[in-house]
Order: sequence, then structure tokens, then C-alpha cells
Amino acid sequence: PMQRVPMVAGNWKMNFDHREATAFVQKLAWNLKNRKFRYDRCEVALFPSFTSLRSVQVLVQSDRLRIHYGAQNVSVTSQGAFTGDVSADMLAALGCEYVIVGHSERRKYHPEDDANIVDQVRAVLADDMVPILCVGESFEERRQGIELDFAVGQVHDVTRDLSDEEASRMIVAYEPVWAIGTGMVATPQSAQDAAHAIRESLRKQFGDQVADTVRVLYGGSVTSKNAVELIGEPDVDGFLIGGAALDVNELTHICMQT
Ligand code: PEP
Repeated sequence: PMQRVPMVAGNWKMNFDHREATAFVQKLAWNLKNRKFRYDRCEVALFPSFTSLRSVQVLVQSDRLRIHYGAQNVSVTSQGAFTGDVSADMLAALGCEYVIVGHSERRKYHPEDDANIVDQVRAVLADDMVPILCVGESFEERRQGIELDFAVGQVHDVTRDLSDEEASRMIVAYEPVWAIGTGMVATPQSAQDAAHAIRESLRKQFGDQVADTVRVLYGGSVTSKNAVELIGEPDVDGFLIGGAALDVNELTHICMQT
């Protein structure tokens, strides 16, 4: 099977203005350089607010930083009378490589359902960006013992009409909702079980090439204290990180461990 390069993705949510964002990126790059971080062995990606993307783009380009970035959300429509929305074309023009799609906070606070998320994935792929599709059960599904079926079902609902080529360009983030921002991290075994179930379902749908290419990240209260044992699991290809991605030294530490 082919080697998947692990990824550390920092989702800043609604934190940091553009000045704080660029200061953070500079500090992170400085830290990683000082520690001789191997960028070829782990991909680092940050997800600033829309308002910070242009500043991050300029900094990354001018200093030739090997830090990747993307957006936290995208409109399903390409242009027009949609006040306040941001299109995939606009994000691509800002050098975004990735877009987080279907984060649980967006599913909860905005009317985003699977149909809407499918359209977002299509919009992102059409602009040659990579969707990071977030899935994961709530506490209730876990209590009922149906967490694997639930997460696999969410992936399937969104990917069912994609071509093999489109599916191969995706990243999936398994983020149990009860673990996000709570300090309750999944055990390495349950992160592995979910990542494995998602990968095997992709294998059934799309075949070995897609299943062995798509990175499956774990998200939910990842810190420098639990990252090592999580990344030791064979189907966990990295992390989507919220809280711990707001502290530059903590994020540096996680990058060094991944
Ligand atoms: C997230 O929002 O994707 C996340 C995993 O948050 P946290 O790391 O704070 O749990």
C-alpha cells in the first residue's frame, strides 16, 4: 500500500484577526525551522478566518513558507446575490488548498445538512481544492453503540455520487462531537476503529486506490499529551485540531510528534 503523508490541520474557528494570524504563522514557521521539522514527513495546514486568508497568503508566498492553508467554510453557489457568502473561486484565488466541510459547529449553528455538504464538496473539488469532510457521532449515537455505522453513513451520504478520481482527492476528519472542545479525547483504539471503518467503506465504494490514498484524520481534544499514541494507530493519518491549535508552542509540539 502507498504511504500517506500525515497532516496536522489547525482549525482556528472564529479566533485571531489578520494581524494575530500572521504573527502566529511566522512564529510557527520559526519554531519548526529551529527544530529542524521535516516538512516532507508531515504536512502542516492552518485554517484562518476568511478575513485573514489574504494576509496569510501574502506571508506564505513572500517568505516561501511550507505551511499550507485553507478555509473553514464555503458557499455552495459560485456567484450572485448571496450576501455574506464566499465562493470556492474566491478561496482558490487566495491560494487555499483545502476547505473544511461539514464541521459539527456548522452542522449545528447553520442549516447545513448532507445535501448542502455534498454541494460544498463539489464546489471545492471543481476549483481543484481538497475538501476536508468532517464526520462523527454525538454522545447519543455512541451510547447506543452505533457510532461506527453513523460516521461511515455520513461519509457515504456525502461521497455516494463522486467519481473515483474525485473521492481520491478528499480528506476525511473523524471528529466525534462529544470530543470536540470538551477535553474528552477518543481512545486510540476507538479513533482507529472509526478511521478503519471509514477507510474500509471507501474501499468497498471506490476500491483500493482510493481507500489507500485518502487521509483520515482524527479530531477532538487532541493535545501534545495524547497525539503520540493516536498517531501510532495505522489508520489515523493525522489530526484536525481546534483548541490546541491556538497555542503556537503546543501546535509546534504536536507537529514534531506527528
Ligand atoms: C475541531 O473543532 O475540529 C476540534 C477538534 O476542536 P478541539 O481540538 O478543540 O476539540
